Amino acid sequence: MASTDIASPSAAAPASDAPAPATDAPAPATTHARPRVFSGMQPTAALHLGNYLGALKHWVAGQVERDNVFCVVDLHALTIPEAVDPADLRAKSRAVAALYLAAGIDPEASVVFVQSHVPEHAEASWLLGCVTPLGWLQRMTQFKSKTHGRESIGSGLLTYPALMAADILLHDTDEVPVGEDQMQHVELTRDLAIRFHHLFGEVFVLPRAVIPTAGARVMGFDEPTAKMSKSTASERPGHAVLLLDPPDVVGKTIMSAVTDSARETRFEHASPGVRNLLTVWQALDGRPMAALEAEVEGKGYGDLKKRVVEVVVAALAPIQARYAELLNDPAELDALLARGAERARETAANTLARMRAAVGVGP
Ligand code: ATP
Ligand code: MG
Repeated sequence: MASTDIASPSAAAPASDAPAPATDAPAPATTHARPRVFSGMQPTAALHLGNYLGALKHWVAGQVERDNVFCVVDLHALTIPEAVDPADLRAKSRAVAALYLAAGIDPEASVVFVQSHVPEHAEASWLLGCVTPLGWLQRMTQFKSKTHGRESIGSGLLTYPALMAADILLHDTDEVPVGEDQMQHVELTRDLAIRFHHLFGEVFVLPRAVIPTAGARVMGFDEPTAKMSKSTASERPGHAVLLLDPPDVVGKTIMSAVTDSARETRFEHASPGVRNLLTVWQALDGRPMAALEAEVEGKGYGDLKKRVVEVVVAALAPIQARYAELLNDPAELDALLARGAERARETAANTLARMRAAVGVGP
């Protein structure tokens, strides 16, 4: 099929074919005084250290100089429907929002909301899905890995990137801070926006991915060649340290992390498991890798692991304390999320109006 063969945005319809913009079109995409940041996490399961080091920690650090929108992407959590327990999904959405706040997201300074509370996301996803070539979706690494060995594959697993593109584009996003695994989806979002522009005229701000230098890809403690992931963590206890794990569980998971039978602690020469421990240590400690290597030189992996346990337990303690406070006052959390959805809707509704006007739908 020709539509699946479109190789890149440059292969899309030329801009000169686009219809002239309607004169009564809604306000164009805004450029911001401070860069607008959008990011989100799926409430598929409890958040882990990779989610914190690859994303959440950087969201918190960037709050002052950026204009932030942080979303709990619950619609994305439906892509494997067999794994959905409705009451549990609702509870996890609130828990993930509470973890954002517990980790230091300020709900006054940043917009924090749950995706399904802002219905513009689902409609924008359809409009974008209609301009998405099938081949672009089939090429996604995550589609290949999440469908591998699965008997029943819902079409949501394939079309997920169009919903993610809607999430990002609706909020006039300049920057998307993500772990390395999501880089490909952000690039696809940009390509889709360009394709939409070629077909229907300029509507979106073009976003770019921002990848952290440390902690971009935390690996599984039980399998250091695979990315630490929420879904795997819910099936395999030693895979991840969860943000709500008590100190003894953190200790047990990290002390049993897979390493090797040598004593190599120099990052450049170390095996994947040891590199992963060093990466986590450095991301939380902040000192240069050389300083950390010098501290454990010739000491063996047990010593390295103990240091990693210490630094992880110390980082999680304040998050866990604040999380417990937030869950003690569910009404306050719900009010914060309702206010967040209202604020998110202001920008989302404006962008969706531009999309509708561009394609010729809506009242
Ligand atoms: P799932 O298994 O449900 O896909 P996940 O652990 O991959 O869960 P997501 O909700 O897909 O988590 O991603 C949330 C954010 O965390 C994204 O910005 C993603 O890039 C980041 N992230 C996820 N896993 C890691 C990891 N192992 N290292 C660093 N960042 C990660
Ligand atoms: Mg993921």
